[in-house]
Order: sequence, then C-alpha cells, then structure tokens
Amino acid sequence: MGKKDEKTIPKLGKQSPHNRFFLNPYRDVRFSKCPQCSNKMRQRKLPLFIHIDPNQPLLLNKTCRYCSYCDLLIAHRDELDHLITRAFPFLDPETVSNQYLVMGTVDRTDWKRIDQNKLSFQATIEALHDFKEVVIFEPMGGWGR
Ligand SMILES: [Zn+2]
Repeated sequence: MGKKDEKTIPKLGKQSPHNRFFLNPYRDVRFSKCPQCSNKMRQRKLPLFIHIDPNQPLLLNKTCRYCSYCDLLIAHRDELDHLITRAFPFLDPETVSNQYLVMGTVDRTDWKRIDQNKLSFQATIEALHDFKEVVIFEPMGGWGR
C-alpha cells in the first residue's frame, strides 16, 4: 500500500486541526482495515464540512471509517456523491466529485447549533476544524487481505 501526494491545506477554520483525511475514490474498497497500520477500522459519525463550487457550504453528518492509531478518517466518495446530489439535485452525479471539497469537521454541538437553513460561510468557518493533512492511498500490486 503506497501513500503519496501528501499535502497540507492552508488553514481555513478557526478551530484547531483534527484528523488526517482520505477521500476514498475506490468503489470496491471499503477499508475495514486501516490502509496504513492494518488495524481494524471503527465507525465514527461526525459532521463533515463540505465546500461545493462555487460558494455553497454543506454540513453532512456522515458515518466514516476511523483508525485511532493513525488518527485517520476515511469517507467513501461514492457515498458523498450520492448524498450531495440528493441535497442539491441540480448537481450532476457524474461530475459532482469534481465540484466539492471536504474541508474538515465540525463538533456535534456546533453542528446542532448552526441553523442549516441559514448556514453562512463565516459561521461555519468559526466552528471548523481543518484536517491536519489530506492523504491519498493507492493500491500497490493489490490491496492484500
Ligand atoms: Zn491505522
């Protein structure tokens, strides 16, 4: 398993960065085991802050995979594509993955406090935990089991 294209994102949120993040583009790989340390991954449900082009913020309370050893959070891209096009039917499911970026997470208490209907970019930035880093895993000669 290779890890590549590690990059840091400019800090946007006002809260301290949390978690390393991987948006899984592989429909046939669900990561029951951590791609980094091979420990069993847990489920963690938390509000993701997603920026949709050109200027639409979205908070999505989503169950993700999480490895506490690596502090690694994994969301499946096809699931996000589906949920986002359901929330915004004018977006094309075929191309939607090019039109959004998962920016970070928001505490559950903040998520409940923020009125989704009046969600302003500024209000969510105040509550936003950026990711510590965004990572990409690629299969190297098969994923192993
Ligand atoms: Zn791990």
